[in-house]
Amino acid sequence: SEALLEVEDLKKYFPLKGGLFGGESGAVHAVDGVSLKVYQGETLGIVGESGCGKSTLGRSMLRLVEPTSGRVQFNGKNVLKLNKSEMRDLRREMQIVFQDPYASLNPRYTIQQTLMEPMEIHNLYERSSRKQRVESILTRVGLDPSYASRFPHEFSGGQRQRIGIARALILNPKLLVLDEPVAALDVSVQSQVINLLEDLQGDFNLTYIFVAHDLSVVKHISDRVLVMYLGRMAELASSDDLFASPLHPYTRALLSAVPIPNPRVKRERIILSGDLPSPVDPPSGCVFHTRCPVAQDLCKKQVPEWRELRQNHFVACHFAGEL
Ligand code: SF4
Ligand code: MG
Repeated sequence: SEALLEVEDLKKYFPLKGGLFGGESGAVHAVDGVSLKVYQGETLGIVGESGCGKSTLGRSMLRLVEPTSGRVQFNGKNVLKLNKSEMRDLRREMQIVFQDPYASLNPRYTIQQTLMEPMEIHNLYERSSRKQRVESILTRVGLDPSYASRFPHEFSGGQRQRIGIARALILNPKLLVLDEPVAALDVSVQSQVINLLEDLQGDFNLTYIFVAHDLSVVKHISDRVLVMYLGRMAELASSDDLFASPLHPYTRALLSAVPIPNPRVKRERIILSGDLPSPVDPPSGCVFHTRCPVAQDLCKKQVPEWRELRQNHFVACHFAGEL
């Protein structure tokens, strides 16, 4: 299978303003050396606590934030080497859906204007066919085309997210980064939007990167799942393998917090000690050692290698497999 997107040793550091800490300079290590491939037609889930860098990773891959270093290859193009106009052309093919569509929709634009704008910017499709395209995309995301004349505030959260999805799809992209697309919605609406995303993926031949803090949300929609901690990759496996036999102590802790539908299955909740360390000054060795329930001396000194411990199941932990 071909990789649509390939990321190599991607880093994004946000420099701190000097003087805040007595003139000491530093940087938030939001993404700290991520390498992965995303295959055509798959859904890659990216999970971790807030502050683990998953959103920044999603945005860096689309170059919505400029990576500090590394390489991003999309559909044969070296993304970080493209100039402004090349980048604008490419943006058509890689779109993002945000957690809060209300914040990303212009309140003064009707839905029609909102959906027309990307086509106008990219000068795509015949003028006369654009309106029809708006209507058909609205229908496709489950909204009545007559809603096109309304404004964002007239819609519910779930409907607004459908509009956000329609806007991302109107340019017929290949890749969608879905950044916590259902986190702000009621549980009953969440599954409707997830079902919609699954239908659309087949119909439009889409590849998804699905960013979420909630493992149970990514479980069903993802083919593979990447677990991140403090800007680093902790574990990557097929969704089935990751949920059935997690190898990293952090993944195990995250999974232990997911409720099991069957009350007869007992699973002990693993409570992590301490807070997420500062990404300005990440712990030495394994960045998880300050909270890891099974940390050893070695963990403070040596960064664990990224190993394929089982087939297509990768983990960064010195002791994974022995636990
Ligand atoms: Fe825990 Fe050590 Fe493994 Fe890190 S390398 S996850 S600290 S056991
Ligand atoms: Mg986020």
